Amino acid sequence: MIGAEEARSIVLAPLQPLAPVERTLAETIGLVASSTVYATEPAPSFTNSAMDGFAVRGVDVTTSSTRLRIVDAVFAGESSEVVVGVGEATRIMTGAPLPPGADTVCPREDAVVDEDGRFVTLQRAVVPGDCVRHVGEDLTVGQTLVSPGDVVDPALLGALAAQGMTSLLVHPVPRVGVLSTGNELVEGSGRLGPGQIRDSNRPTLLAALRQSGFVAIDLGTVRDSKRDLRAAFERARISCDAVISTGGVSAGDADFVKVVLAELFVEHARSMQVAIRPGKPFTFAYDESTNTPFFGLAGNPVSTLVGFELFVRPALRRLAGHHDLERPSLSMVLDDDLVRRPDGKLHLVHGVCRIREDGLVHVERLARRGSHLLFAVAGANCLIEAPDGEGYRVGDTVRALLLDTSELNGVAHDQRRP
Ligand code: AMP
Ligand code: MG
Repeated sequence: MIGAEEARSIVLAPLQPLAPVERTLAETIGLVASSTVYATEPAPSFTNSAMDGFAVRGVDVTTSSTRLRIVDAVFAGESSEVVVGVGEATRIMTGAPLPPGADTVCPREDAVVDEDGRFVTLQRAVVPGDCVRHVGEDLTVGQTLVSPGDVVDPALLGALAAQGMTSLLVHPVPRVGVLSTGNELVEGSGRLGPGQIRDSNRPTLLAALRQSGFVAIDLGTVRDSKRDLRAAFERARISCDAVISTGGVSAGDADFVKVVLAELFVEHARSMQVAIRPGKPFTFAYDESTNTPFFGLAGNPVSTLVGFELFVRPALRRLAGHHDLERPSLSMVLDDDLVRRPDGKLHLVHGVCRIREDGLVHVERLARRGSHLLFAVAGANCLIEAPDGEGYRVGDTVRALLLDTSELNGVAHDQRRP
C-alpha cells in the first residue's frame, strides 16, 4: 500500500495546465489567467469628485459658515476650464473632473444655495483634499493587474474592462469524460433483472464535475469486456482532456479496467493500493500522445466520491491552471465519537460541519458508514480524516477537508434565526 499523498504525487507528476486560449473578457469569469497583464492606464485616470457638491479651494473653507460665489457647473463626462479662485466654488457632480484651482469637494448635503443660484453657503469646514479621488489611487501604470494562476472574478474582470481590455489569455475549462463499467449496470427506469443495478456513479461524478466548474461529458456505460473497454478509452482520449471510469480496478475476475489501461499506456499506467478507506484500489494512467490522464476509480459509490475528492479533483484543477489544488483542510471540534480500528489506513469519513456559538467549527460524522451507502453521505459538507489508530472521542480536535463552504455559511446563518 502507498499513502494518499504519494498517490496524489504520482497523479500530479505528469500533469500540466491546458494550453492557454484567448477568450473575450466576458467568457473568462471563473477561469484561470495564464499570463501577466500590466496596467497601461492609471485608475482613476484623472482627478475627480467623489461626491455631488461644490469644488473649492480647501483653504477657503475653514469655518462652519463659508459663503462662496458659484462660477461654473461641471457634470460627469464633461470638464470645466473655469478656474476656481479665492472665494469661489464650482458645482460638481460625482465623477466629474476637478476644475483648475480646486483641490477639495464640499458635499451638496452641507451646502445651502441662494435662491438666485449665484452664491452658496458651506456649513461645514473641510480638510483640503476631502471628497477627491486621485489619479492612480487604485492602479498605477505598469502595476501588475493579473498574474498566472489568478482566478478571474467580477471585480478583476471589471478592472480589466476599465483598462480597455476586451480579451484575456486563460486556461480552458477541462472537458472531462465519465464512463462507468460493469455488466450489472442497466440504463433507464425499467424493471431490474436478477443482480442488476442502476448506475449511480456516473450521474454522481457528472454532477460533482459540474459543481467543481468542469465540463462533464457523459461517455455512458461499458460492459466488463476488454475489447469494449479498450474501444471506449481509445475514443475518450481523443474527445476529452481527462477521463474518469468507475469499477473494474480491484481484484475481481471481471476487473478489466486496470488491465486495459496497463495494455494501452504501459509504463504510464499505475495500479495502486492506496492506504485509505474507502477507495483503496485506484488506477492512474497517462496518455502521452494526447496529454490525457485516466482515473480508474473503485466502483463502490462512496469510494468513487472519495477518490474523486482526493485524486481527481486536484488533478483537474491543475489542468485548469489553478495553483491551489486541494480543498481547504480545517481543524474542527468533534461532536461525537469516531471510533475505528487500526488497519494501516487513513479513514475518510463524511461529516456535517457548522460554526457553533463558541465561534469554532464543529463536526458531526454521518452515522451510517459503508462504501455502498451513497444516500448516507448525502448532505455531507466535509471529509473527516481519521489517521490509522483507534479514532477519536467527542471533544477531540480533528482535521477535515471542507467540501462545501456555502453549507457552512448556510448553517451559520440558520443559527442567527430566533
Ligand atoms: P467493482 O469496483 O467493479 O468491483 O464494483 C464494486 C461495487 O460497486 C459493486 O458492488 C458494484 O456493483 C458497485 N458499482 C460499480 N459500478 C457502479 C455504478 N456505476 N453505480 C453503482 N454501483 C456501482
Ligand atoms: Mg465491476
